[in-house]
Amino acid sequence: MENTSMLAERLPWEQPWWRPARGQRATFSYLIAIHILSLIGLILFPIPSGSVFIVALSLLLLGGLGTSVCYHRVLAHRTARLNPVVEQILIFFTVFNGSGSPIQWTANHRHHHAKADTIDDVSSPRFGGFWWAHLRWLYQWPQSDPKRWSPDLMIHRYLVWSALQPVVVGGAVVLGLIIFGWEGFFWVGPIRLMYALHMQCFVNSLLHLSPNAPEHTDSSRNIWWLGPLQLTAWGENWHRNHHRNPNTARFGWTRWQVDVGWYFLMFLEKLRLVEGVKRPKPLRPERRSVRAAVRPERGRDLSSPREAREGARVG
Ligand SMILES: [Zn+2]
Ligand SMILES: [Zn+2]
Repeated sequence: MENTSMLAERLPWEQPWWRPARGQRATFSYLIAIHILSLIGLILFPIPSGSVFIVALSLLLLGGLGTSVCYHRVLAHRTARLNPVVEQILIFFTVFNGSGSPIQWTANHRHHHAKADTIDDVSSPRFGGFWWAHLRWLYQWPQSDPKRWSPDLMIHRYLVWSALQPVVVGGAVVLGLIIFGWEGFFWVGPIRLMYALHMQCFVNSLLHLSPNAPEHTDSSRNIWWLGPLQLTAWGENWHRNHHRNPNTARFGWTRWQVDVGWYFLMFLEKLRLVEGVKRPKPLRPERRSVRAAVRPERGRDLSSPREAREGARVG
């Protein structure tokens, strides 16, 4: 079902925040549960032991790479082709981080780029405000239709993750309990999942929060201080760069714009585990302005449904 024309009609952000859309009760319940459990965990175990913290942090780091490199740069924008084994490993850790299935994430994200800064951009703060863009759109409006936005991913190796997602997320919640007991349950489960959730949600909310930008002008922002908090998704914070040129795998465009996902891709390239990495035009000489130096490549923007349908041939 396509919902874009219905957003302006229904203005779902005017609903009370606690009323999920039809079919979104499970998502709403999950969000409520991890927040309540995180709060309980932080009260009972405010400081985790070293081993619990290292496991939680390692899972966050792997999930961050999965989201930024695999889901965002490789699957949604087709700016590189990953070795299939590496791709499957990264998908596992991304689902394990509570970031959703690759098909649905890609559909939502391509839809966002295609409708950015219009009323049909469901995850924009422009009309619904910060909390709508941050969390509420996840459960108060149907997700984007994969048949329209990510048909190139409707093949077995991605479809299987849509089916496995509930089991993997269930495993993510109880893993810490099995290994470490209750302290592990709270830190490896809900607290880690809540942290990963909010760091990813900032991309839609904070990184598009430009209250004075007129409609149809680019609201995306680069926010340097968000980068370190995003851990291995550091690079997603250069969101304005990304909206200017979604057809390059590199989000940080100067040597000072740290982009961990890009460094990871360069590392994989050395190991021959990724190919076809789309680079911005040469950044030198450095005296030139970044805008002039990094011209959009003549690549295909998969945010258009027609290009998305043809995306399988790109990758
Ligand atoms: Zn993108
Ligand atoms: Zn955006």
